[in-house]
Formats: sequence, C-alpha cells, structure tokens
Amino acid sequence: MSIPQSFIQELLSRVDVVDIVGRYVPLKKGGANFMGLCPFHGEKSPSFSVSPAKQFYHCFGCGKNGNAISFLMEHAGMGFVEAVQDLAQQVGLQVPDDDISPQEKERAAAARQKQATLTDVLEKAAHAYRQHLRASTRAVAYFKGRGVSGAVAKRYGLGYAPEGWRSLASVFAHYDDPLLEESGLVIVSEEDGGKRYDRFRDRVMFPIRNVKGECIGFGGRVLGDDKPKYLNSPETPVFHKGRELYGLFEARTAIREQGYALVTEGYMDVVALAQLGFPNAVATLGTACTPEHVQKLLRFTDAVVFSFDGDAAGRRAARKALDGALPHASDTRSIKFLFLPPEHDPDSFVRAQGTDAFARCIGDAVPLSRFLVEAASEGCDLGTAEGRAHMASNARPLWSALPEGVLRRQVLSDLAQLAQLDAHDLADLWGKSAAQEAARQPA
Ligand SMILES: [Zn+2]
Repeated sequence: MSIPQSFIQELLSRVDVVDIVGRYVPLKKGGANFMGLCPFHGEKSPSFSVSPAKQFYHCFGCGKNGNAISFLMEHAGMGFVEAVQDLAQQVGLQVPDDDISPQEKERAAAARQKQATLTDVLEKAAHAYRQHLRASTRAVAYFKGRGVSGAVAKRYGLGYAPEGWRSLASVFAHYDDPLLEESGLVIVSEEDGGKRYDRFRDRVMFPIRNVKGECIGFGGRVLGDDKPKYLNSPETPVFHKGRELYGLFEARTAIREQGYALVTEGYMDVVALAQLGFPNAVATLGTACTPEHVQKLLRFTDAVVFSFDGDAAGRRAARKALDGALPHASDTRSIKFLFLPPEHDPDSFVRAQGTDAFARCIGDAVPLSRFLVEAASEGCDLGTAEGRAHMASNARPLWSALPEGVLRRQVLSDLAQLAQLDAHDLADLWGKSAAQEAARQPA
C-alpha cells in the first residue's frame, strides 16, 4: 500500500502533535512549547519538548525528534501505515487506497466537504450568539449569577440566542438555505406550509466543539424556569451525542496537567467547575456515557473520575457509565465513580463545601472494581445461597466485559469470595457455560 506524499502532508496539517504525544506522555505547558519526561530515555527532570507551532518533538537529552507519525512509530511501536491510519481515523480522513472504488472515494470526499460546510455554518452562528450575549443584560446577569467570569465565558465561547422566531435571519443571507436546517439551527415546521424558525430562542448558549475545536452543535439553557430546561442540537452529520463530550477541547490541556479527567452530567457543571479550579471537567450531552465516550477520553488520560449527583437518577447514570467503562478498564488505567450528597450537583457542592472538600471527594471516589461488586450485589441478600447466586448471576456480564488482565482476575476472586465459592470453581463455571453457548451458536 503506497500512500501519496500529499496525503501525508494533509494529515500532518490536521493532527496536533501535542495531542498525539500527550496520549502517552504527560505534558506541561512551558512558554510556547509543552515539556515532559522523555519517553525514549530515562530522566527525572523534563527535557522532552513538543512544539505546537512546528508540530515537532525534540529531546534535549537524547536527541530524539520527529513528527506525529514518527512518534507513533518509535514510541507506540506502530508501523508506518498503521500510524498513518491511526492518525487519519482520529481526524476523520480516509487513507487513499487503490482498493477502494472511485465511487466510494467520491462519496467519502463529498461527506467530508459537507461536514466542513456544516461546521462553518455553526461557527458563524456561534459568533453571532457571542455578540448577542454582550448585548443582553439578562443573559449576562444569568452567567454572573452563576459566578462565571468573562475569561471563562470567553474560553467556552458562551453566547445567547435572543428571543424572536427568526433571529438567525439577520446572520445568514439566505434563511431558507437547507444547510441551516441540516445543521440543526433552524426547524422546518411540518404544518404551516413548512414555516421555518430558529431552534434556539431566548437561551444561553454553550457551543459544543469537537477535539479539533470546530463548532459541531449547541446546548442551550433557559434563563428562567421554562421547559425544556436544556435543549441540544439534533443528530447531524457532524454531531453525534453518543460520541461527543462537552468541554473536551477546552479541557484537554488541563486533563493532561491534572493527570485525570472529571466527567460530569451537564455543561453548566463543566463551566462552573472550570471557574472553581477544576478545568479538567467534561460532560456527556443529555445522554448516558457510552463506550465510545470512554474511549475518546482515554486518548487523553489513563485516569477518569465520573461524578454523579447523589439522587436515584445519578445512580442509574453511574450504572450506565460503568457499562461504558468496563471494556476499557485495563490494568494501567484508573476509573472511579464519585457520588455527591443527594442535594448537590458539583457546582453547588463546591460552593457549599469548598474546593478542598471536592478534591477530597475525588480522592475518595469508588474504584471501578468496587463499584462493579456493589452494582452486582444490589438487592441481593448475601446471607442466603439464593442471594449469593443472584449476585453472581448479576456480576457475570459485568465481569465478562472486562479486558483480559490482572484486574479481571482480582475482580473474579473478589466475586468468588462474596459468593462463597472458590475462584477456580467460579471461573470454571463461567468458562464452561461460555464454551457451551459458543458451541450452541450455529457455525
Ligand atoms: Zn530523550
């Protein structure tokens, strides 16, 4: 497979070497560059420098240097083609391949073109919403009331969608452009002969950015008590809520610096936490945490803390996040679950108890292994054989979702102890019935 040089150039212009290196090496900003401990030679003080401007890394200790592709080859042990494919996938590029038909190539190119057009449209709307925020004393008062400073509002690109049905008509020359509907900004009514109107009206606006920093959608919140309180962009060719995390673009440097990512339930949590000294927070977008979300986060860090409100809904959301996290819980990763007191969300908790108390909660968060056992035991009377059997039956799919490794074995032995079984017996039992199921599948 030969890859044209022009494609390599385009690829390198789209990826960020700081992102790529940062997946493997904790980096800290130092002046124009990022510094870290060199992954190629042992050292105690950082002499490994990554330049976002030059898209290049260089070690002043051992002299290793190169770009994003050579880093993946030298550090992650990938082959050239594998490294190119890995990078291309991250930025949504298709590696040119002669095996693909011209029609397929054309379709892929058209899809990319469409995505670029949609993000341009959304970016233009985001710009207009930011302007409207400055002009609206009510919206400014809302953010001030939540303690959001001008600097944080700017970092997250916060805005305001004014009242009125067709405010965007003053932003876009052609309000009937189908792109406005496709981007989710405008709704076309089924009745009324297809009347068009703005989706977001009289709401404070949170632009949702992808990891490249492009605007791919919005979350909007009412200023008062109207319903629905939160409104998100619909699914579009550029926005898939099951894949995107609010605040990841803004938080990625802080995630590297703090060494972990904090996952919350809402965009106001993210903005408020950034204001209160936790700039490493992200949020799912009105949806349960998926394995894709977790995988995306783990590109930036090996440690994730999920924070949930302490009510029943928070508990249910945590269970879903557990399911999303299990396949990624390898031995070198740390995944934890934090439950706030029922009356609090992260914002109100930090305000009431202070940042130190919240930092302690993060430190005391429940490790995935323990939460798995708790989740399996829920509602089971472990004082009876029936209850223990029920627990084991609940635990099996959870345990099976874990990747091979030491953690998986440890959890098995914890579960066996709880079930009052020998770990070998439990492994035998689960292994055997798995083999029987496999045998029952038609070939
Ligand atoms: Zn070195």
